[in-house]
Amino acid sequence: ALLINNKCINCDMCDPECPNQAIYFGQTIYKIDPDKCTECVGHYDSPTCVSVCPIDCIKPDPNKRESLETLAERYLILTQQG
Ligand code: SF4
Ligand code: SF4
Repeated sequence: ALLINNKCINCDMCDPECPNQAIYFGQTIYKIDPDKCTECVGHYDSPTCVSVCPIDCIKPDPNKRESLETLAERYLILTQQG
């Protein structure tokens, strides 16, 4: 999963672009729900939130490094539930 760091300026560019609705406004900045983030696996070739963020504050979560298999499994679970 990816992580939004505290440089986020709350521009709201990323939230509507996430195919998994994983991004939400937290207490002070936007956040990513790691249980919904597939790093865009299944949807795009690269994380679309990173592409639209004007200040490059979305990074891999060092505590949530996940394999392609794990991300692909999450994509399947999320799409079946949807
Ligand atoms: Fe959503 Fe993709 Fe960003 Fe994860 S990487 S939060 S799935 S847009
Ligand atoms: Fe924050 Fe970047 Fe999302 Fe804008 S696009 S709300 S700066 S994480």
